[in-house]
Amino acid sequence: MHSDTFLAVVAGRGTVNPLLRRWAERFERRRVFYGSDLRDHVACRRNTIVKWFRDEAPPAAAWLLMVDDDVVPVARTDELLRCPAEVAAARVWARTGREAHPHGISAACVKISRKAARAIPPPWFRFVFSPDGTREVLCECRYFWRKCHAAGFTPVQAGIAGHRFPVTVLPEPDGPAFRFDGEVEDA
Ligand SMILES: [Zn+2]
Repeated sequence: MHSDTFLAVVAGRGTVNPLLRRWAERFERRRVFYGSDLRDHVACRRNTIVKWFRDEAPPAAAWLLMVDDDVVPVARTDELLRCPAEVAAARVWARTGREAHPHGISAACVKISRKAARAIPPPWFRFVFSPDGTREVLCECRYFWRKCHAAGFTPVQAGIAGHRFPVTVLPEPDGPAFRFDGEVEDA
């Protein structure tokens, strides 16, 4: 199935979550790219994948579907597979418990056409820091969003996917409260 799409899983923690692993089996063309989970390294790995897709992937694969190892596909994730846009991404929640980039796209589960991979000059993904290097001013998703627009593409959101994060269970008067890491310090 999905012979026109190459599934690349971005694995940073050494394992791919079992729900994604099972979902991945329906792609006859798939590969896991392992590497460091550090921010710049993640962007490097995404660029390696897009470059590999552009230059070396089997020509029959018109699409690259790049999915992080903590993404959990659900039934509605299929909307992304059917989306005809040159660049599209599933909606996901961030570890803050809020939707990641509700007005843009998240890099966690993104589909890129071969045409877009060729037309958008590298780097496709990059974290941009303040001049003194102490602050992140642009995450890889926003950077990619800008590169798409600069090359004449408008990325769209299509479908939705689950996202697995470590969660802290805090004792609250009404019972246990589940907090993502981004929320624990506020609790
Ligand atoms: Zn982002």
